[in-house]
Amino acid sequence: MIKLKVSLSEIFTSVEGEGIYFGTKTMFVRLAGCHLKCFWCDTPYALSMNDGKDYEVSDVTKMIDDNLIQNTYKVNFTGGEPLLQHNAVHEIAKHIKRKSLRTYIESACYDLERFKVVLPYIDICKVEFKLSDSKVVDIKHYEKLLENELKCLEEAIKNKKSTYTKIVVSSLSDKKEFEELVKMIFNTIKPDDIEGFIIQPVYGESEPSLDKLFQFYDAVYPYYEQVRIVPQLQKVMGVR
Ligand code: SF4
Repeated sequence: MIKLKVSLSEIFTSVEGEGIYFGTKTMFVRLAGCHLKCFWCDTPYALSMNDGKDYEVSDVTKMIDDNLIQNTYKVNFTGGEPLLQHNAVHEIAKHIKRKSLRTYIESACYDLERFKVVLPYIDICKVEFKLSDSKVVDIKHYEKLLENELKCLEEAIKNKKSTYTKIVVSSLSDKKEFEELVKMIFNTIKPDDIEGFIIQPVYGESEPSLDKLFQFYDAVYPYYEQVRIVPQLQKVMGVR
């Protein structure tokens, strides 16, 4: 195995609380570091590379082997932003695939080239689209982020990965902007290409009303009837 360092925040097993695979027993491999700035980020303790501990990739694969419990449905690469450490994710995912386990990445997909590096050993892609009210990047860089998100979505589908999209919405999210984003997504892909479309309300701050959630739902429904509003169930359950 290539000698590579990785800044790791934590490895733990819990119930998947988000997206279309909610309820599955999942091992989370949380990489440290994210240069993005969503105001609703729920992992502030993993945003700096210094928040993680440095390991060799081989130490992390051993940790995964030692901590894996029976009937684990999938191993999630999460963060932070896993693409910041794309080479390490590539190596760790390759190890997990050798064990015939499912691999899953959740990413803001800010860089197509990095995404292409991790993709060969990833089975399931959750492509997260950010609305500008998330404050993820300044408005000058928002277009570039969106462009990469759309290209990563296309790339995942082209490579026949199980792919779904997620958009986090808040009371500040703009209906028009959301509608435009949905239009862009379905101008890029066909409804049959994806396995789900999740609208996830923020939790604890600027929570959207039911009326607002239905506005977003109604914007997706004409394109994709299987759209779902799914909150973070781990928060409801009080687990990590
Ligand atoms: S992209 Fe993810 S990890 Fe980064 S700030 Fe946003 S929510 Fe947090």
